[in-house]
Amino acid sequence: MEAWLPRSLLNLPLGSAIPSAGFEGLSPVRLHWRNGHLLAPEPLPDHVDPPEWLVLPRLAEPHVHLDKAFTWASNPNLAGTYEGAMSANCLEHSTRTRAGVLERGDRALHLACSHGLRALRTHIDSVGPGATASWDALVELRERWSGLLDLQLVALVPVSHWSSPEGIALAQRVADVGGLLGGVIGPPYRQRPLRRDLQVLLQLAERSGCGLDLHIDEASVEPAIGLVQLLKLLDQQQVDVPITCSHLSSLGLVPVAEQQRLCERMAEHRVQVVALPLTNAWLLGRRAGTTPITRPLAPIRGLQRAGVRVAVGCDNVADPWFPAGCFDSVALMASCLTLAQLAPWQRLGLAPFTTASAALMDLAWDGVIAEGAPADLLVLKAGSWSEALMRPSQRRILISGQWWNTEAS
Ligand SMILES: [Zn+2]
Repeated sequence: MEAWLPRSLLNLPLGSAIPSAGFEGLSPVRLHWRNGHLLAPEPLPDHVDPPEWLVLPRLAEPHVHLDKAFTWASNPNLAGTYEGAMSANCLEHSTRTRAGVLERGDRALHLACSHGLRALRTHIDSVGPGATASWDALVELRERWSGLLDLQLVALVPVSHWSSPEGIALAQRVADVGGLLGGVIGPPYRQRPLRRDLQVLLQLAERSGCGLDLHIDEASVEPAIGLVQLLKLLDQQQVDVPITCSHLSSLGLVPVAEQQRLCERMAEHRVQVVALPLTNAWLLGRRAGTTPITRPLAPIRGLQRAGVRVAVGCDNVADPWFPAGCFDSVALMASCLTLAQLAPWQRLGLAPFTTASAALMDLAWDGVIAEGAPADLLVLKAGSWSEALMRPSQRRILISGQWWNTEAS
């Protein structure tokens, strides 16, 4: 097929003609594939008709909550506060069933696949009455969807839980299914117990060989307290498993010079970040009766400048934490034009949805379109980035060289 491709995602064989690029950094190329893999992309000459399609690699979504997706209708949080979300979430969790998670999770994965995702990392509420049901259902869904979607599973618990016998047993079960350890670190911070709990968690992650992905500093107050505690521990102990900080919203409220120093220390310790602008913009910075001006969000640009890998995720979809969403990374990119001023025609504006996201999730394919790469494409009916982002565009999904039939699935 002939299509526009972002220049930063195109890797041509040595000796190829240098491709032209339009004002948005898109290059016209011809793509072929055989036996599930791409052949060498061919730059199109200037004189051919401009392509009508824009091609991306199938995308990786680094942070969702499949266990609670689509529970807004039964457990809404009309006030839109963090506290309201937590209590509605707990109520829902107390009645959660395996069948319910299976049905809602399957619906979510259909949407994700038809929107062009190839991998998702989901956090799972892992203490309390619905924990076992959620894990059973999501392990089953991971099997059901294998070959089409990679599903990564993270145990989400209060961070102190990892210091209990139940937490140690949970870590073993998570390791057995190749999952990651997670946790919530937010205000009000009790710094000494927090440091002790985090130290136990870091040791447990090392022992079990599980990566870490923390919900950390998702707040409008007490900026970056959790991150500072994490960095102090990493100064003292070597941790080899990958560490991801999800949210990190209140780091954006730290004065610039100090913020930059923290970003540099994160880069030294290879700590990665998943920014979650939609849920942050909805839940944080709220004061009744006012329109928010200060919007806590991970300082994506400063982190990138310091050398920290940053991906952007959609987080919650139609659950007590956020009422909208649809597992669509292209829609997320459109939202991030306004929420984070990330523009996909800039390399570092596109990377959080493509290559950085794939690398953070440690996927086998980096998402670069090159000879031998998987024939896994998200094809949008659009002649420019603006056309791709202005409205939901018609799209086709290629998986291992076969067109995915969204209607039959
Ligand atoms: Zn989350």
